[in-house]
Amino acid sequence: MTEPVEREAACACGQLRIRTTGAPSIVSSCHCLECQRRTGSLFGASAFFPRTGIAATEGERSTYRRQADSGAWLAFHFCPKCGSTVFWENERLPDVVSIAVGAFADPHFPPPVRTVWTRTKHDWLGFPDIPHHPESPGTLVPR
Ligand SMILES: [Zn+2]
Ligand SMILES: [Zn+2]
Repeated sequence: MTEPVEREAACACGQLRIRTTGAPSIVSSCHCLECQRRTGSLFGASAFFPRTGIAATEGERSTYRRQADSGAWLAFHFCPKCGSTVFWENERLPDVVSIAVGAFADPHFPPPVRTVWTRTKHDWLGFPDIPHHPESPGTLVPR
């Protein structure tokens, strides 16, 4: 099976879109309480793409900024019409754009290779046998 080189992520109503080329640098999942509140679900799943892998963005967006535990800002771009967060940026990772895995609406999207903030993971939630980090490992190097 060949990996599709181009992908598109979109919000629920479809007007905010981001297109990527090439593979994500890392796919990760996060059980922090902020991701739980942002998604309304139990964890966030993020695909980190090199900025050079972003082909285009289109549509209106609003931005919510908050401080990460590291003190750096995070800027979450979401659709002002339907509210879905589609992608975000991290002050500490200027060459990287994170995209919500669910926004690709592709069950065959590459799976996460690690999961972080398991300190606040819901106990009943099972998770694949990938490296678990109680907090953020502070690096995008998979381990
Ligand atoms: Zn929308
Ligand atoms: Zn998180």
